[in-house]
Order: sequence, then C-alpha cells, then structure tokens
Amino acid sequence: MNQLPDVLIRAMTRDGFVKITAVDTTEITRRAREIHQTTAVATAALGRVLAAASMIGNMQKKEDGSITLIIKGGGPLGTLLATADPEGNPRGYVENPQVALMEKYQGKLDVGAAVGSQGTLTLIRDLHMREPYVGTVELLGGEIAEDVAAYFVESEQVPTVCALGVYMNRDQSVEVSGGYLLQLLPGAPEELIDRLEAAVQEAGTVTNLMQQGLTPRDVILRVLKDMDVEFLEEQPICYKCYCSRERVESTLISLGEKDLREIIADGEPISVGCQFCDVTYTFTPEELADLLNHALE
Ligand SMILES: [Zn+2]
Repeated sequence: MNQLPDVLIRAMTRDGFVKITAVDTTEITRRAREIHQTTAVATAALGRVLAAASMIGNMQKKEDGSITLIIKGGGPLGTLLATADPEGNPRGYVENPQVALMEKYQGKLDVGAAVGSQGTLTLIRDLHMREPYVGTVELLGGEIAEDVAAYFVESEQVPTVCALGVYMNRDQSVEVSGGYLLQLLPGAPEELIDRLEAAVQEAGTVTNLMQQGLTPRDVILRVLKDMDVEFLEEQPICYKCYCSRERVESTLISLGEKDLREIIADGEPISVGCQFCDVTYTFTPEELADLLNHALE
C-alpha cells in the first residue's frame, strides 16, 4: 500500500510548448473519505475533484490566492466542491456522501452516472482585492477529467489534456489517487496535440500507472516520452483546511443581533461544524454574549 506523502510536481518541455502538472493525492483522498465518511463512488468522485483543484490551485500566482471548483451534475451525489490554495493544498466536500454503490460493470465504479452529466462545471479564481473571475461550462459526461479539460479549452482557449483517477479497494479504502494536467502553450505546433494524445492513450489510466508504483515524476516522463523535460517545482501537498474559531465567530456575528440574542436566550451551547473538515466549534451562551457585546462596542 502506498504510504508516501502526497506530492505535486510541475514541469515544462525545454522547447516551451508544453507545461504539465502531476499529483499524487492518495493521502488527501484518504483524509477526505475519513472526514466525510464517503461511500466508494463518492470517494472516487470527490478524490478526482480534489486532485483537479490541487493542480489548478497551484497554477494560480501566489498573490491571486485560492481557486474553487464546483461541479453540479444533477446526479445522486449532488454538488461537489473543492477549493485549493496557491500551493495546491485542497479541501472539499460532496453534498451526498452516502450514495450507494454505482458500477458500470462489476468492479468498475460509475463516477459519471453518480456525478450526473446534466449540469455545469464552474471555476472561481479568487483575485484578492478585485472581483473574482468566474467561468462556467456545460458538463460533458461527469467523469470530471474530460470536463476539466473542456473548461480550459472552451473558457480559456488553452488546449488541455486532463487525467484524474482514484482506485478504490474492495474494502472501500483508497489504493491510489492522483492525476495530471497538461497544457499547450501559444505557438505549439498543430501536430503536437495529436502526438501527446497518442502518448496519453498509450500511457493508460493514471491509476494503472500509480498502481505500478510510478511517482508523479515518472508519470510526467511517461506522458511526455521522447520530449526534453525540465522539472520546475516539486512540493508536498496535503488536505488543508483554513477554518478557525475566529472565522466561525465572524459568521455568527453576521447572523445579526436579533438572531444571536435568540440563540443566547435558549441557554444551550451551540456547535458549528466545519463543512470541509472534522472540527466542531462549540460556544456557550456566555461566550456568545461576550461575542455580541464585543461586536456591538
Ligand atoms: Zn475546517
């Protein structure tokens, strides 16, 4: 069983025409499953979205901040949402984590049917002080990787190949999870995309490569075979939540004085769970009263 820490690697071909990012998100997907108690098909879908968010997040400039990827496919899983910081550390959730087993055939999870294909993929790029950039495309099939690629082609006019995969063991544990995102840069020769698509076909699924023990670095070399590759960045990534008691306090204050006074008058402590992780913040009526008094000062 793969026990290595998760990693994100970024590389470029020396001719400057292809850039590629690859991730091992096995531990991230395991953590997501633990937090959200997801069934196999929900884990597989959420794991793919987390891997995509990680790679897209890392494409952001540091000063631009986070990205959020939202998939609403109309299937039984409901909305899938993942967000990532500019280093590529993701967090996320799925609306219905308990969706029962859905298989295309025995042993092959039907992620596309669980996500649904009647809906949209939305990418929000947080640009700090300016308005966020929001792009939306119609889903192709709900398998997520091809939908992410289509987003970049349609919305940003960047030829893109995306592969995402989560391999679930029979006991519903996560064997491997990861992916890669390959993009052509302006001026790339026409035939290059065909050549790359052939190499991608030949390489096979990302889960298959990872099960053979290939690292993200090996995956890049396999997909960009015969090309001169320069590795630009390699860094550990993890499931990272940015929630804090202070953030929950601001949310409580934003409820308004009237609602807060009602909660305080009930005389019971309240618990607020984070939607991304398994932390719960509890406030006693006295703490809530203090909070309100400070806010009113
Ligand atoms: Zn949290």
